[in-house]
Amino acid sequence: MITESAHVQPGVQEREVPVMATRTDVRFRFDSGRPSLDFLATVGNRGGLVPNERLASPARWSAWLVESGMMPAALDVDGRAYADAISLREAMQRIVRAVLLGDPAGDADVRAVNTTAAGPRVPPPELRVTSAGDLQVELASARSLAEAKTFLALDLLDLLSGPLVHSMRMCSGEHCEMAYLDTSRGTRRKWCSSAVCGNRSRVSQHRERRRDGDG
Ligand SMILES: [Zn+2]
Repeated sequence: MITESAHVQPGVQEREVPVMATRTDVRFRFDSGRPSLDFLATVGNRGGLVPNERLASPARWSAWLVESGMMPAALDVDGRAYADAISLREAMQRIVRAVLLGDPAGDADVRAVNTTAAGPRVPPPELRVTSAGDLQVELASARSLAEAKTFLALDLLDLLSGPLVHSMRMCSGEHCEMAYLDTSRGTRRKWCSSAVCGNRSRVSQHRERRRDGDG
């Protein structure tokens, strides 16, 4: 049996998602299906007039790295490193959006992601045998912000170059625009999360029906 004891764990991470997010909701989302897309999901309500910035300070970027499992403990992030992270995130976001809409990606964004992807890497995972004789893959943490950013950029390259790119979707929720992987059996998932945008849509449909019914 192969198990993963994750720090940096690509793929779906089971997390509790808020039942009803609001525009001021600052809780992080880790349910997109990929670390790189989770990173992009640190902005909510992207299509709205007031996007919800969940990384509103250097400390929040540090908190995200810890909560995502990429780093074992919070670290001091200066203003420049913070601005670099936000700039990388937005370049990645524009590329993902272009892929989803079938548009060409911008040269500057491609260069920014390539430069980051060529940076210092998180140490490779190690195969171990547990005392019970099971095989375990131990994934390493990022040791610096640069390693964390490289990991995220490489995760995006891995996603875009593999078969999962065809499972990438944009949420149909009003103004949400969160990118996620639809790995459901019929690949007919419409929402980033049925508990967030799915629920919101059901509530608004219910309201509309009631209004129509009332004349
Ligand atoms: Zn959504």
